[in-house]
Amino acid sequence: MNPLTLHPIHIENKDFVELHKILKSYQSQKIFLLIDENTKEFCLPFLRTKVLAFKMIVIEIKSGEINKTIRTCETIWEQLLLHQANRNSLLINLGGGVLTDIGGFVAATFKRGISFVNIPTTVLGAADAAIGGKTGVDLAMYKNQIGVFTKPEAVIINSGFFKTLPIRQVNSGLAEIIKCALIANNDLWNVLRERHVLQIMDWDHIIHESVRVKMDIVSRDPLEAGERKLLNFGHTIGHAIETYSLRNDDDALLHGEAIAIGIICESYLSVKKISLTENDLNEIVKYIFNHYHSYNLLPESIEDLIELMVQDKKNTDEQINFTLISRIGKGVIDQFVNLELIREALNFYIRYINTTD
Ligand code: NAD
Repeated sequence: MNPLTLHPIHIENKDFVELHKILKSYQSQKIFLLIDENTKEFCLPFLRTKVLAFKMIVIEIKSGEINKTIRTCETIWEQLLLHQANRNSLLINLGGGVLTDIGGFVAATFKRGISFVNIPTTVLGAADAAIGGKTGVDLAMYKNQIGVFTKPEAVIINSGFFKTLPIRQVNSGLAEIIKCALIANNDLWNVLRERHVLQIMDWDHIIHESVRVKMDIVSRDPLEAGERKLLNFGHTIGHAIETYSLRNDDDALLHGEAIAIGIICESYLSVKKISLTENDLNEIVKYIFNHYHSYNLLPESIEDLIELMVQDKKNTDEQINFTLISRIGKGVIDQFVNLELIREALNFYIRYINTTD
């Protein structure tokens, strides 16, 4: 399987025409459907009405990052074996990013690789996790340590699935869309800032534009040798905050909630290091605070966050490698920032929440 070639992505909200075509081509083979308890309740009934004609063997796993492990993969591999899956079988992954990461990895490794289709059911899945070919699981609480680059047969996006998502999950996915707009799509940014997410009816357009940004970048750099680093905007500080929150908070931040904070801090760095204007910074900060609660980041946590960033192998003791934005819609990779300026960016966030609360 060549990860350098792109996989098709279909946004289809009505009759799943493309999905039908794929299922038809596997009709004489075994088709498996991977779900978790939430997609079983909220997404499977709708999907079933659309693909009644096809027989599928359902495999259910437990939701949650905590289950994104090799142990869960083993249970799926065992089920596939039990039901005599072979190299011609098809696995359909119906779920959020956790499920498509696991399902993609399971498919890529079972009998050296079977075909799979991702049907993302979260905003984050549709905008990011289910597309682009990265799959994998966590190891000993470290994220995505085991995995492969691979290629789904297709990704089928139906924004109707988002209706049953809690608003925090919707906003978590929105952060990746905001990121895509800020690094490469000024028009998308203008669409986003026109309305509050709760009023966004046209998910299809927004997802389409955001997917286009990601896939343009991934097609030029599928294995993250250079340009794909653009997608890291907001993630250097965001990941440190996500890990910090997971370790310290009872009700930890979701991935996108942490990335939204990362976007604020890294936009601040973009003003200080390159050419983002103060006006654009204010616009970004205002937009994010319209959608996300402020996170009570304490000055005492700054050194822990710096430590988490320094631990990342791409960085040195003195400087951290960032992707920044020179203006709204233009990301710039390989911007090395000293630790003092990073402290300043975190303090910018802290100051902001304390003056607006
Ligand atoms: P998730 O997969 O944990 O889903 C969030 C929750 O929503 C889960 O409880 C899930 O069961 C439930 N759910 C899913 N669809 C639903 C629906 N339609 N209605 C109601 N509930 C529903 O979280 P996520 O944000 O989708 O994905 C996060 C994961 O994605 C992380 O593990 C992250 O590492 C991964 N990820 C991967 C990539 C990649 O390129 N492979 C990129 C970004 C993120």
